[in-house]
Amino acid sequence: LSDRHLLDEVKRLAARERDVTVELIAHLAEVEERGLHHAEGFDSMFLYCRQILLLSEHAAYGRIEAARAARKFPIILEMLAEGSLNLTTVGLVGRHLTRDNYREVLAAAKARSKREVEELVARLHPQPDVPSSIRKLPEVKPVVAPGALLPASAPTPAPSALPAPAVLPPAPPRPQVVTPLAPDRYKVQFTVSAKTCEKLRLAQDLLRHAIPDGDAGAIFDRALTVLLEDLARKKLAATDRPRPSRGTAPGSRHIPAEVKRKVWIRDGGRCAFVGKGGRRCDQRAFLEFHHVEPYAVGGEATVSNVELRCRVHNRYEAEIFFGPHGSS
Ligand SMILES: [Zn+2]
Repeated sequence: LSDRHLLDEVKRLAARERDVTVELIAHLAEVEERGLHHAEGFDSMFLYCRQILLLSEHAAYGRIEAARAARKFPIILEMLAEGSLNLTTVGLVGRHLTRDNYREVLAAAKARSKREVEELVARLHPQPDVPSSIRKLPEVKPVVAPGALLPASAPTPAPSALPAPAVLPPAPPRPQVVTPLAPDRYKVQFTVSAKTCEKLRLAQDLLRHAIPDGDAGAIFDRALTVLLEDLARKKLAATDRPRPSRGTAPGSRHIPAEVKRKVWIRDGGRCAFVGKGGRRCDQRAFLEFHHVEPYAVGGEATVSNVELRCRVHNRYEAEIFFGPHGSS
């Protein structure tokens, strides 16, 4: 078999497969019309296709949907045969066809990709925005065999009587957008405008060298990094100005704006004090810039020596270092 012949042959076989599929769909439509699957002992076409015709779930579903659409609009069979529609696009568009719109819609779906047909369907049948939601899922923990931690004499409840692990998250006050999926993996879901989607695609194109698969999560991260830089600049500029200059001579306690910005972003705009038990404060209000090694003993205003503190913790650490009346 020469290369040329091989290519011709796969083309021919694909066309034949389409023809056979279209014929099967036409026949399935007739079987359902006559209710023959009921007579064969099945209450659904789906089960009949699965068990008697040995189709996969996906294949059964697609063919049945196409058969139902084609019964109402036979032109679908022609379009499937010529390859201008496929089972996926018929499945997307089938339910939205009416006597009034089918010519127009099928023409619009002709030779379109799945995504394009999805957009077409979204125009025909707009869906409400995805509700924004942030939900903290229980951490996945290794399952301990029931009773393994109980003393041998303790009565062990039958496994079926065990309550589900008590790790249900507290009900969120309102729907939010981020779902942790696994450690360090979160599902973020939201609805954007066509314009925003266009921006994402443009960013994907421009970042193709750095993010070859166009991963939206990686792009989202870059966008937020830039946004945070900008927000930090504005926020810190706003709080910086009213402050009277205390002099910027070498060795002054003035913290350069750039250091503040970096510290603020690094610490996530939250008090970075960590208690003895390892708990981080996380307070977001009334933050101050704190010298880890105090300015008074030569601590410098560098990113590595400055951290965010809430008022309480800034004072707390100053008192530890200088005593109750000192200051950092
Ligand atoms: Zn604090």
